[in-house]
Order: sequence, then structure tokens, then C-alpha cells
Amino acid sequence: MTKTTDTALADGDLHRPASAALTPADIDRFGPDPQRSFAANLAEVEARVAAACARAGRARGEVRLLPVTKTLPAQVMRLAYAAGIREFGENKLQEAQTKAAELADLDARWCIIGHLQSNKAKYLARFAAEFHALDSLKLAAELDRRMAAEGRDLPVWVQVNTSKEESKFGLTPEALPGFLDALGDYPRLRPQGLMTLAVFSPDPARVRPCFQLLRRLRDAAQTSHPAITGLSMGMSGDYELAIAEGATVVRVGQSIFGKRPGSDAHYWPGLIPAPPSEREQGR
Ligand SMILES: *Cc1c(COP(=O)(O)O)cnc(C)c1O
Repeated sequence: MTKTTDTALADGDLHRPASAALTPADIDRFGPDPQRSFAANLAEVEARVAAACARAGRARGEVRLLPVTKTLPAQVMRLAYAAGIREFGENKLQEAQTKAAELADLDARWCIIGHLQSNKAKYLARFAAEFHALDSLKLAAELDRRMAAEGRDLPVWVQVNTSKEESKFGLTPEALPGFLDALGDYPRLRPQGLMTLAVFSPDPARVRPCFQLLRRLRDAAQTSHPAITGLSMGMSGDYELAIAEGATVVRVGQSIFGKRPGSDAHYWPGLIPAPPSEREQGR
């Protein structure tokens, strides 16, 4: 093999999807070469995850990094895929469903991480690999029925509201034990663990107790439900803290894909790359 060929392969140019499909708005938000920036950001997050594991005396293999692709257009998700991402975390079912249809040729796992109404269970059952926001028995019953119809099982995480904020979904800690007992009636659901969103705050003293509470609830649940081992907690602003407190899945979007426009962009400056348009203009 010649040196020239090696270089071409190392650059990945041969496998690079045409970026011609990018719209001006995509370039404004993600820059001219999203694949390259995603790969660089991903490497940075990977390094931080590894360092957080090391500090906590945990093996890197104990923590899974779930990339959150919500609000990314399908053509941009192709570039995320080209950067090596094989799991797509999405919080809105309709958006995920549309993009999954558009990207059906990719070998990727679709992970629904946001609240779901029970009348949408049948759509989730058709394409989702897992569900991180189970919070009602009505939804559990509907998902179980729909998964049976599809002839497969669904790994689920039970969402707990650990911050007592009205704006957040999830069971109260008090309701959790009875809920887990009742889940036994739904054999198509395979409970993996608990999930939470901590308070959105840069102050670790406010965030940490949410993670600690989820961990205590998990530990308590394990005596009667040994399958409940996982802790899906931590996002761009707090995943290192979550790993210190025992997270087994961290759901990270903006630190990989850049700041999200809009109302759900919980923005932690310094941790999240600003959009190229803002960097250039020094906004
Ligand atoms: C958006 C979202 C995340 C990721 O948030 P980032 O700030 O992009 O890292 C994690 N979990 C849930 C449930 C989300 O909706």
C-alpha cells in the first residue's frame, strides 16, 4: 500500500458523505465541516468522561456516553454518524420518528429520552431501541402491549423527579417502590435502572443531591429488583459530577454538537462550544 493511500484513508475522505446537503442555516449553526467539529468535540467529551471515571476510581467501561441529537436536522445527523456516532438520543417522539425514517439506511440505535404520552406508545414501539423516561403505569401497559405486537422487548429506565421542580417529569421518590413492583406485570419491558434530570444549575451543591438521591433509590430498589442497576443521569453541564456520583449512562448533546438554539438550551458557557456564527462575530 502506498503512502498516499494511507493518508487518504486516515483523513476519512473516502467515506465522507457529501456536505452539499447542508443548508445555510446548518452552516451557521454547525460550521462548514460539522463532521470534523463533532469528532473533535466527541474526543474532548470522551477524555473528560475517562478522566471523571479515573477520579472516581471507576472503570471507563462502567459509563456509557449516549449522544443527544435532538434538534439536529437529519442531514446533519448523517455527519454525526460519519464522525462515529451510532446512538441517537432524542426527547421528542415525532421528531425522532421523522428522522429515523429519513435515516433508515444508517445502522443506528434510536433512544427516546423524553416524556411520552401513552397514546404515542405504538409509534415508539416501531423503531426505538430503548426508553429512558418511563413515568406512569398507563404508559407501561401501553408500551408492553405495543412491544408484544412488535414481537420484541424494550429496555426502560424509570424517570424520577429528584429536584422537586414542577417543570420536570418523573415519579416522586415515594412512589418509586410501588411502581417498580407493578412493572412486573409488563414482561415486554426490561427495566435497566433509574433516570433523572438534576436541577439546571452551575452550583454543584444544588446538583449533587439530585444524583445522590437517585443513587440511594437505586441501591434500595436493588434488594427486590436486582435488574435495576443503571443510573441514567448527567448532561452537558453536569456529566462529570454525575459520573462521580455513580452514573452508568450520561446523556450528552450540546458538548458534542454545540449550543442548541431555543428554549431548552440549558447553556453552560465554557463547557459547550458556541455556534461558529457567534464565535466569528464575537457575539
Ligand atoms: C436535551 C437532553 C439531554 C442533553 O442535554 P445537553 O445540554 O444537550 O447535554 C439529556 N437528557 C434529556 C432528557 C434531554 O432532553
